[in-house]
Amino acid sequence: MSDKLAAEKDRVVSFHYVLTEVEGAELESSRSGEPMAALIGHANMMEGLEAALIGRTAGEQFEVALAPEQTFGERRDDWTQRIQKKHVPKGTRLRPGAQIQLQTDDGPRLVTVVKVGSSVVDVDLNHPFAGKTLVFAIELLEVREASEEELAHGHAHGAGGHHH
Ligand code: ZN
Repeated sequence: MSDKLAAEKDRVVSFHYVLTEVEGAELESSRSGEPMAALIGHANMMEGLEAALIGRTAGEQFEVALAPEQTFGERRDDWTQRIQKKHVPKGTRLRPGAQIQLQTDDGPRLVTVVKVGSSVVDVDLNHPFAGKTLVFAIELLEVREASEEELAHGHAHGAGGHHH
């Protein structure tokens, strides 16, 4: 029997992740920075990822593969939009293939530049990872009880979490 806390609702997990495509290249990793901290049971992360973390304890390493419908959805053909350049954050380098972040009614959204005109930009609204089965290689570093304040806020504080 281990006396380590297992990840469950209202506990905070800290973990490193390396995200790859199935049998593909690395897409994203937390390894170059601080680990990610998240409060379980408060929609802090993708459901499939959270489900894979539940019941795990610090020190465990594992992989979880998530289908597009569990992550960024299927890729939609011809899902482009023409936007005014003035809506693109200043200092953004605009060239076809570049990924830029736009503010939308649903929050920040990562899109891909398709074509650049003199005053407008055509962007592909598909998330760059849409349509891909993603594999998360997780190293769970810490599981701890959440503080009253974290529970009230619905997110983790401190390293890898919210700073405020
Ligand atoms: Zn907070």
